[in-house]
Amino acid sequence: MNQPLAGKRIVGNWKMNGDLAANAQLLRALVDGLQQAPTSHVGVCVPAPYLSQAAQLLAGSPVCWGAQDVSAHASGAYTGEVSAHMLRDFGVRFVLVGHSERRQHHAESDALVATKAQQALAAGITPIICVGETLQEREAGLTESVVRRQLAAVIHANGACTSEVWVAYEPVWAIGTGHTATPEQAQQVHAVLRAQLRAAVDRADRVPLLYGGSMNASNAAALLEQADIDGGLVGGASLKGADFLSIIASANNAAATY
Ligand code: PEP
Repeated sequence: MNQPLAGKRIVGNWKMNGDLAANAQLLRALVDGLQQAPTSHVGVCVPAPYLSQAAQLLAGSPVCWGAQDVSAHASGAYTGEVSAHMLRDFGVRFVLVGHSERRQHHAESDALVATKAQQALAAGITPIICVGETLQEREAGLTESVVRRQLAAVIHANGACTSEVWVAYEPVWAIGTGHTATPEQAQQVHAVLRAQLRAAVDRADRVPLLYGGSMNASNAAALLEQADIDGGLVGGASLKGADFLSIIASANNAAATY
């Protein structure tokens, strides 16, 4: 019997932003704003050099910290890469895998993304698998086949362990553009992903499905109310403490109606 998910998940993706002073201010605002334990699960994915700062400032708080990428290799001659084991040393709870910016700027293939997910799982870190179509693919009617293909690669490589991943549906045309998917568009794709997981993986309902793409304080509530949207992956708005806290408040309200 599948366990229903408890609470929503809100994860910030800082991308390549921040410095020691600004991070400290943002993380303190977040922790101060979450004095009461939130109903939702909250985390931030920070640039790798700031993992130790996040670990210091967030330890003992309700906010988890994560990374934005992980190597597909365990160790060795891979200059510049960071292994899952190294992330683990910094208390990382989850890692983004296959973000569209990495697929686009670093030519990450579906197979590579699946291997990175494998590395994270082997180290006890939850990979958040990002999938999503470009505008061109959406306009060509390929949305469903693209996200299904991206997720299938992860299921193929990880088998039963796929029940331990999180998935983020992030339409590429909505990331950083201010053009959010409508709640109906997002729900439609989430339902496709949910059905694919249920057909292929035991305990598929353990897998949270997050929406990402210009989620902000104004549109979060409507997105998070959708049946198959279990949370949000938030880029730009996670860099503004008040906006991120407002999204978390929307998630808490939505979670309370579960
Ligand atoms: C992201 O980078 O994952 C993202 C969703 O960005 P934004 O919220 O800025 O669109």
